Amino acid sequence: MWKCPVCGRTFQKVNQQHYCGRMPATVDEYLSEQPDKIRPILEQTRRILREALPDCTEKISWGMPTYWKKRNLIHFAAQKNHLGIYPGPEAIEAFRERLQDYRTSKGAIQFPYNREIPYELIAEIAKWAYEQAGE
Ligand SMILES: [Zn+2]
Repeated sequence: MWKCPVCGRTFQKVNQQHYCGRMPATVDEYLSEQPDKIRPILEQTRRILREALPDCTEKISWGMPTYWKKRNLIHFAAQKNHLGIYPGPEAIEAFRERLQDYRTSKGAIQFPYNREIPYELIAEIAKWAYEQAGE
């Protein structure tokens, strides 16, 4: 991943073109900056992650909505054509079979907006990451 030195946002591609504004301070602010077309997907993602991880802290980390308990468990981010889910490489390895229809890279999963988003699966991955983090 690449972190823009100006705005602090994180992207998968080095020197990714983007609007270099101030980094959002809260998840509400992050969501409010997203295009109307994809905001419902992001709101639903937030809802299922909060449900899956009820005692985790929600914050912005690496410029992305993040669920934290002792450490960052999972992030999500609005990319241009897909929802990015960042649960860490171990989670992706553990769910490899069920993710075979999706593009993944080290630590990142791409769920294209033009396909149905598998929210159930995202919740399961989040719970897995939570369990791995210990208690
Ligand atoms: Zn920037």
